[in-house]
Amino acid sequence: MKTADNNLIFLSLGSNISPRQQYISKSLHLLKEYFPARFRVSSFYVTDPFQGMNQQAYINCSVQCWTDLNPLEMLDTISEIETIVGRKRSGKKWESRIIDIDILLWGKQVIEQPRLTIPHYDLSNRDFFLIPLLELDNTLIHPCKGDFLLTELEKIPPLLLTHPVKIKQDCSQTYHKFHQE
Ligand code: ADP
Ligand code: MG
Repeated sequence: MKTADNNLIFLSLGSNISPRQQYISKSLHLLKEYFPARFRVSSFYVTDPFQGMNQQAYINCSVQCWTDLNPLEMLDTISEIETIVGRKRSGKKWESRIIDIDILLWGKQVIEQPRLTIPHYDLSNRDFFLIPLLELDNTLIHPCKGDFLLTELEKIPPLLLTHPVKIKQDCSQTYHKFHQE
């Protein structure tokens, strides 16, 4: 199977309803089952709720994987995984969530469809996306702006920062031990 970089994708996972690490781990197991090729996971990070929302802190991580699905099929698959893990949608924006899986990057492609925007529309403003993502590949470039994502991270206004802190003894380490080459 050819696993060319134009179908190499990066996802962000987040949870702020306990048990957060278990919800993330379950999602990772499912993602790895569906997308085993070139599968890699970042460390887990604890982050403040975005824009000072009065919510429990989040756990976030990033995943690299390869797929031969098209982008909308991928969106449906990650939404199916969110449902299996237990996400219920009230339709409210910014609500606390058992699991949220967003597509950050799809190779160097720019995809604009009614249900899907890639790169993620707010990639450059969210340190909880960029810090785990850059742990997987710190040479990534924003496909629309042409800037290094590392540079984008440095430009995030202080009010938007969520201060990700790497968890030392986290489920991602157990995950890495059992699942990564
Ligand atoms: P949130 O904005 O908190 O991630 P949801 O997970 O409920 O909220 O997603 C809302 C909608 O965002 C999805 O139904 C999907 O159609 C759309 N969407 C657009 N671009 C993306 C993307 N890059 N990754 C994931 N969802 C996306
Ligand atoms: Mg989402």
